[in-house]
Amino acid sequence: MSEPMLIRDVVIGPGESHTVRLPIARLPIGALIDIPVYVFRGKTPGPTLLLQGGLHGDELNGVEILRRMLRRRMVRPKRGAVIVVPLLNVYGFLHMSRETPDGRDVNRMFPGSKKGSLAGRMVYEYMEHVFSHVDCAIDFHTGGKSRANHPQIRYSAELPESRAMAEAFRAPFAFATKLIPRSLRQTAYRRRVPVIVYEAGESLRFDERCVEHGIAGAQRVMAHLGIMGGRGLPESPPSIHLGAVEWIRARRGGLFRAAVENGERVVAEQPVGYLADPFGQYNRPIKATADGWVISVNNMPVVNVGDPLVRLGFEGAGDAPVDDG
Ligand SMILES: [Zn+2]
Repeated sequence: MSEPMLIRDVVIGPGESHTVRLPIARLPIGALIDIPVYVFRGKTPGPTLLLQGGLHGDELNGVEILRRMLRRRMVRPKRGAVIVVPLLNVYGFLHMSRETPDGRDVNRMFPGSKKGSLAGRMVYEYMEHVFSHVDCAIDFHTGGKSRANHPQIRYSAELPESRAMAEAFRAPFAFATKLIPRSLRQTAYRRRVPVIVYEAGESLRFDERCVEHGIAGAQRVMAHLGIMGGRGLPESPPSIHLGAVEWIRARRGGLFRAAVENGERVVAEQPVGYLADPFGQYNRPIKATADGWVISVNNMPVVNVGDPLVRLGFEGAGDAPVDDG
């Protein structure tokens, strides 16, 4: 680790910082798209942490978190290194879309392919030139499709360091989720690289509280890893650890109004929202299934049967759910 780090043709020595542009592919109009990668190295050896935003191109809170951290010059490692990629899926960002223009969810394309689709090639280049240097990572996301997440960390129970990073981050909620096939976290797990996912807010929206909580959490993880000192960081209580989470889904289509807010404590049978038809004929409460916490709320009023409405989290033991952000 005290040897020079080589990313593409850029050499980053101890104590140095550099910007590397990772070329991917040209747009149909000929403009070359490259991914900006900011590399900061401390003077002494230590772990390399990746801070990554915008894997889904419409999930903007993470992009803003990393923009502010760069702007405020918050990433100055004493030891080890920090690689900051504020916007991985530049193509999706340009289209204000989760996916790449070929309709792929980038988080189902890992570890990528050299001669595959646009998304596959992007992931391949990223894994080859950036992720190969990484010892641990924080991946910043938001809820998708009008679903707002209360700030929460998802980690891999299979890697103890992943849980330790989750605890250091101190989001209001933390829980383990299953490794999705061909996701970044599964690919990282196979390389024994712990990755935690910060899920906060919703796509195509900024949420100030989610952004500032994300910045403080990233700083706490850097302090936990010994990359930076922890003095002067904002205080935050330990995360509430959830053993199980559950979406309450619409029993029929109609108009949904939430009656609770993200982060709120609810008791069994409490109405968490109301489902009505658009013509004033029907209006029914949607009730909490058990005592728990509101960790996600759907903000789209028009819902179909089966659509997720409110996600509750429960303390205690349970089965790890699948990620959905
Ligand atoms: Zn996402």
